[in-house]
Amino acid sequence: MAETRHTKVLIIGSGPAGYTAGVYASRAMLEPILVQGIEPGGQLTTTTEVENWPGDTEVQGPDLMVRMEAHARAMGCEIVTDIITKLDLDQRPFVAQSDSGTVFTADAVILATGARAKWLGLDSEEKFKGFGVSACATCDGFFYRGQEIVVIGGGNTAVEEALFLTNFASKVTLIHRRDSLRAEKILIDRLEKNPKIEPLWFHELHEVFGTDAPLGVEGVRVKHTKTGEIREIPAKGVFVAIGHAPASELVKDRLETHMGGYVVTKPGSTETSVPGVFAAGDLTDHKYRQAVTSAGMGCMAALDAERFLAGHD
Ligand code: FAD
Ligand code: NAP
Repeated sequence: MAETRHTKVLIIGSGPAGYTAGVYASRAMLEPILVQGIEPGGQLTTTTEVENWPGDTEVQGPDLMVRMEAHARAMGCEIVTDIITKLDLDQRPFVAQSDSGTVFTADAVILATGARAKWLGLDSEEKFKGFGVSACATCDGFFYRGQEIVVIGGGNTAVEEALFLTNFASKVTLIHRRDSLRAEKILIDRLEKNPKIEPLWFHELHEVFGTDAPLGVEGVRVKHTKTGEIREIPAKGVFVAIGHAPASELVKDRLETHMGGYVVTKPGSTETSVPGVFAAGDLTDHKYRQAVTSAGMGCMAALDAERFLAGHD
């Protein structure tokens, strides 16, 4: 029989927003339960050096998230390895069902489900996913030692992935649909100085091609965005780094969202359109999307939840 557990505050998500909410809600004696989801530690576990987390000139993303988890636990936050599959925000207490069968009831909910990598939606991308097509250089870069690789995108993630992949690859082609990058200056500088990286401007991925048995990538066909001309680039690995979309599937039909699924919060607050439900981090933020801003919003969400619960004693 399914176990039912009640908590004052249920935190969904274990990125910087979720763990920070866990620290603050624990210190407010709310005895929160935090459900980690499919990616314990969140997006930073898919990167290497983080150089803009205050207090650490350089820290490895996965190490930072292990420390955040330990911090939340030490403050008294209960951390559960599970995934919330359904959330009913029409009942009080709120009801969340998990993948393992546990039912959580909660007086307040903090949503911190972050964001997930976007894909281009090409059939050939889908066909070779996991067989040469990836969205995580730190996870899969090691498989391409001495090989040629292409990276698609022009933001911080694409440039960081391209730089990281030069540790393994013989050559990295950065394919971008424009001729200017939206990545930070410091990263662009490093890219320009790296002899293994060759940018290819005004091109989009048209098709990934390769072998069927065994399934494997041999190259890509790219299309010039102005002339439409198609050319082939040999590559064993294709890393898609075209941004992230908010993970709002649990609530998109119940909470107000905007700009492609970001949960709307009241200005200067983490309150959503349902009282008692708070949202923090990349789930709500189409603009900054940083670890430190997510952590800041996690703090706000816990303080907002504390005030909400105090007002509804
Ligand atoms: P996320 O980190 O996205 O975490 C979301 C959490 O929600 C995950 O734990 C997931 O398992 C959980 N979850 C999702 N759905 C469910 C569910 N149904 N049930 C339970 N749990 C669920 N930012 C920086 O400031 N500096 C950097 O150097 C930097 N480098 C980056 C490098 C890469 C490759 C990427 C992809 C991002 C980088 N960022 C960086 C951005 C930063 O990682 C994000 O802004 C930050 O992680 C967002 O935190 P978050 O807590 O909102 O969500
Ligand atoms: P992003 O900033 O949204 O950049 C996405 C890139 O992909 C853009 O260059 C975009 O092109 C391109 N793109 C989008 N859709 C495309 C498509 N269909 N076809 C071809 N190209 C496409 O995403 P991100 O780089 O993943 O970064 C997400 C957030 O995480 C940002 O806020 C970023 O600052 C943060 N982050 C920070 C760090 C760091 O601090 N070191 C590292 C990684 C990520 P256009 O430029 O033409 O729009």
